Amino acid sequence: MEILEQMGAEGHEQVVMVSDAGSGLRAIIAIHDTTLGPACGGTRIWPYHSEQEALSDAMRLSRAMTYKSSAADLPLGGGKGVIIADSHKDKTEALIRAYGRFVDTLGGRYLTTTDVGTTGRDLEAIKQETDYVVGLPLTSGGSGDTSIMTGLGIYMGMKACAKEVWGSDSLAGKKVAMQGFGKVATYAAHHLMKEDAKIVVTDVYEGALDRARDLGLAVVKPDDIYSQDCDIFAPCALGGVISPETIPQLTCKVVAGGANNQLLSESDGASLHTRGIIYGPDYILNSGGIINVESEVSGAYNADRAREKTERIYEIMERVIAVSKRDEIPTAKAADHLAESRLEAVRKIRRLYRSN
Ligand code: NAD
Repeated sequence: MEILEQMGAEGHEQVVMVSDAGSGLRAIIAIHDTTLGPACGGTRIWPYHSEQEALSDAMRLSRAMTYKSSAADLPLGGGKGVIIADSHKDKTEALIRAYGRFVDTLGGRYLTTTDVGTTGRDLEAIKQETDYVVGLPLTSGGSGDTSIMTGLGIYMGMKACAKEVWGSDSLAGKKVAMQGFGKVATYAAHHLMKEDAKIVVTDVYEGALDRARDLGLAVVKPDDIYSQDCDIFAPCALGGVISPETIPQLTCKVVAGGANNQLLSESDGASLHTRGIIYGPDYILNSGGIINVESEVSGAYNADRAREKTERIYEIMERVIAVSKRDEIPTAKAADHLAESRLEAVRKIRRLYRSN
């Protein structure tokens, strides 16, 4: 598909190709939708095999940010930057600052933050060139590590799902199987442990498993996590893990975790629905990170405000479940409908405003 055709099909507003010969920067910034506010989303540094692969990733991820911010009731649109490079070998201050200068030329239509391959230090370098950067470290006056709020949001989403399934949102005694025990899973686990949930963990990194063992958590091999006898399965590592291959292995009543793009395809959401498993849509449950960042956009960062907004993920998940039941559709679709209806309502008001 031609680029403009692809943009039209998915509703993208703008795609910017960026090149700086001096630093070797090659990047793409995709702005999906600014109906609700400036497009916000992280910058990913990844050694893409082709420009087409980088473009597809930027377009897919920027669209997902529109849905995530819309469903979380944030005044932000969706955007994403991708830099075609290996973050371990190619990342230099010159490259990052050149990227920051291009972000600046967009005049605030795009606000960047961290993603795979970028860190708080990179944001500090970008900040040398532009004010359109958020999620800076606390020491630089920013909102700091997003995974703290992301972990809280996952926990709140799990509780809303639990209420629907078991009639109470208490997770005491519930068994949660966590795939991946990185930053987000660890913060979510701390909330679960306070509530006396039972946790079993897997990871491919031995250091993560050691941390889990130190916390007294049970540990299993990566391939065994799907078939664990559990109440809640929490994907907190990779995307695409809910698939025709894994769904038959699940024994849980709830799938609720932090990983992005958990469903391999849309039909996997329908498949969970048919089996009576409640799915907490990934972008609803893991929106604590963008909520944290947004509270930096709308003034000086206030941790209490970010926490309060993140706790609202519970109510948003309740709304998703209500729409799913009312319309007899999978929760993943219900979440999309909620996000789209907010966007449509704001567009409608704009059209009315313009025609008067
Ligand atoms: P992380 O890198 O700290 O943790 C991921 C963990 O998953 C690592 O310990 C890794 O070893 C493990 N892992 C990788 N492949 C695995 C496999 N096949 N089986 C088991 N474990 C595996 O990352 P994170 O920040 O905790 O993010 C986790 C997920 O949440 C990612 O999908 C990320 O995109 C998503 N997410 C994170 C945030 C945030 O604020 N950090 C916000 C939204 C979404």
